[in-house]
Amino acid sequence: MSDLARRDARVAWHPYTQHGLEPEALPVVEARGAELVLEDGRRVLDAISSWWTVLHGHGEPRLVEAFAAQAAKLDHVLFAGCTHEPAVALAEELIAVAPAGLARVFYSDDGSTAVEVALKIALQAHRHAGEAERRVFVALEGAYHGDTFGAMAIGERAPFFTPFEDLLFEVRHVPVEAAAIEDALDDLGPRAAGVILEPLVQGAGGMRMHAPELVRAARAACDARGVFLIADEVMTGFGRTGTLFACRQAGVTPDLLCLAKGLTGGVFPLSATLCTAALFERFVSDDRARALFHGHSFTANPIGCAVARASLALVRERDVPARLDAIGARINARLAERLGPRAAALDLRRTGGIVAFDLPESGGYLAARALERRRRALEHGVLLRPLGNVLYAMPPACTEEAQCDAIADALLALSEA
Ligand code: PMP
Repeated sequence: MSDLARRDARVAWHPYTQHGLEPEALPVVEARGAELVLEDGRRVLDAISSWWTVLHGHGEPRLVEAFAAQAAKLDHVLFAGCTHEPAVALAEELIAVAPAGLARVFYSDDGSTAVEVALKIALQAHRHAGEAERRVFVALEGAYHGDTFGAMAIGERAPFFTPFEDLLFEVRHVPVEAAAIEDALDDLGPRAAGVILEPLVQGAGGMRMHAPELVRAARAACDARGVFLIADEVMTGFGRTGTLFACRQAGVTPDLLCLAKGLTGGVFPLSATLCTAALFERFVSDDRARALFHGHSFTANPIGCAVARASLALVRERDVPARLDAIGARINARLAERLGPRAAALDLRRTGGIVAFDLPESGGYLAARALERRRRALEHGVLLRPLGNVLYAMPPACTEEAQCDAIADALLALSEA
């Protein structure tokens, strides 16, 4: 074990990590483009964009410049009662590129908080409209929306949230089908608050993909009943599905849109919850008690906002959605060719830059061999993090063709035994 890993093992507690089985963390000393450099000099391809965050590649000079320049000028200021150029300009730019009809931006720190904010806005807005009984969201089976309590409640409960299940508020989880969403809303009647979904791809639940029609049907179902549609694009946003936002493929504007991860190109924790003017207006009054009581110390941090602006400019200049789509297509084509008839049996699938297949193994996320597969991928020079029996890749937009092939080959090697 390296000295760093040894020191780490004494003091650090890692996320989603069973320390009894995984005593040793990978010591990473540098990162450039699609590669991580390990302490022993080995180079490893970051085929999962460091938990789906790193959008352009590591060490992107334009983001580093924006980061440094903003840190030198205005590092931080509270966003209650104060404002600053990076936050305002980023909000303007996000509204300009988001699905038409979203008009306000509320900043927070990560995907979970972006979702919490959306839930709180929706619930409080119903209350302000005299419909305080609208408390129950419809969410999809296999959903994942984050790890804070509200986000846990709307996510699939097992296995991640089983220890907290008794504390989570009431939610209707339904199969990923239009009719199931409609039925649940009808069954809830005046208690329905809205629908939340990850459009096109359910991420942590196993890279499950659905057609844009489902998102359209959810929109129509919400409209017909006067409830809100929340799109969690924390993972799918900023080009991962081949369009800037997954909602675009459905031609849908949600009432609330949650963004994080790729918002800053993955280099700074920042998130945003966008909403319609109509939702914002429900909070505007001369009564202070009707304000949205939510905020974090680092809400709208200027450095994060400046980096996000630089990232968004790059997304447009380089057509990142098209690049990611081409990367996904290349990995998928190589997998399809080499897997042959097994491709269909393993449910090889792709949306934009996200490629996945399932190994025939029980246990879901807790499938016993996930750790061993991670070790074997590293032997092939690729960092993967299978979701149990689900193998997937989602590399950054700078990934070159030979690197795509190396990622596909590592996935193939893992599919074999
Ligand atoms: N929503 C989705 C769709 C996600 O994939 C994630 C993170 N994997 C989250 C929310 C939570 O984001 P964070 O980990 O930044 O809190």
